[in-house]
Amino acid sequence: MNWEPWTGCYAASDGCANCYFYGPNAKRHGQNTITKTDKFDWPIRKNKNGEYNIKGNKILATCFATDFFLPEADEWRSVAWAMIKERQDIDFLILTKRIDRFKVALPDDWGDGYDNINIGCTVENQSLADQRLPLFLSYPIKRRFIAASPLLGEIDLSAYLKTGGIDHVTASGESGRDARICDYDWVLSIREQCINAGVTFWFKSSGSLFKQNGVVQKVNPFQQGNVAKECGINILNGKRLF
Ligand code: SF4
Repeated sequence: MNWEPWTGCYAASDGCANCYFYGPNAKRHGQNTITKTDKFDWPIRKNKNGEYNIKGNKILATCFATDFFLPEADEWRSVAWAMIKERQDIDFLILTKRIDRFKVALPDDWGDGYDNINIGCTVENQSLADQRLPLFLSYPIKRRFIAASPLLGEIDLSAYLKTGGIDHVTASGESGRDARICDYDWVLSIREQCINAGVTFWFKSSGSLFKQNGVVQKVNPFQQGNVAKECGINILNGKRLF
């Protein structure tokens, strides 16, 4: 289940070049203006009996079609944090390419972080990993994961994984007609790093161009999750992220 309190986004880094929502071939082309949606207060909206419309014990993927930390959403984010705090019975999963803006508009009572938030920092290549992950690890966040997505090259995450501050890593190739290749060797390397650090790992999607044993395979958008799953390399230990 997704919650998109605002819509619109624009590129933050190399991984945004072929963004499904706002890239050159996006279905929602041109929506770079950031606006609140009519679902803004959805997590706390109640029915006529005074019960929340969204029942508890759920994972709510938050801002997966925009970015939770966009500067244009600073004012709204304070209200979003308050709604998240109110719904302690829901796990809010936030994925961002703007972790450097994490502290802007953070609530006063944040402390070590709220229990019901899991934040994912996206890293697409080594240089972005080295820029974002030291910041990510320095912030008071109770549950953190890394999304190597879209994976654009070999990445060494070992130094960050061995801190013990990262719970989980996902890896995905890029999707779309101009997608760049995802090399299976890069995926296996990240998996190995996770094994060495005792961190769970999920190969979520092969992307549109998947290179395996030197051969590049074109993968239909509806098959990319299956192709990744069929590789049989997930180490989830019962963990459910989405
Ligand atoms: S941050 Fe995410 S939603 Fe925004 S342009 Fe980049 S890939 Fe698209």
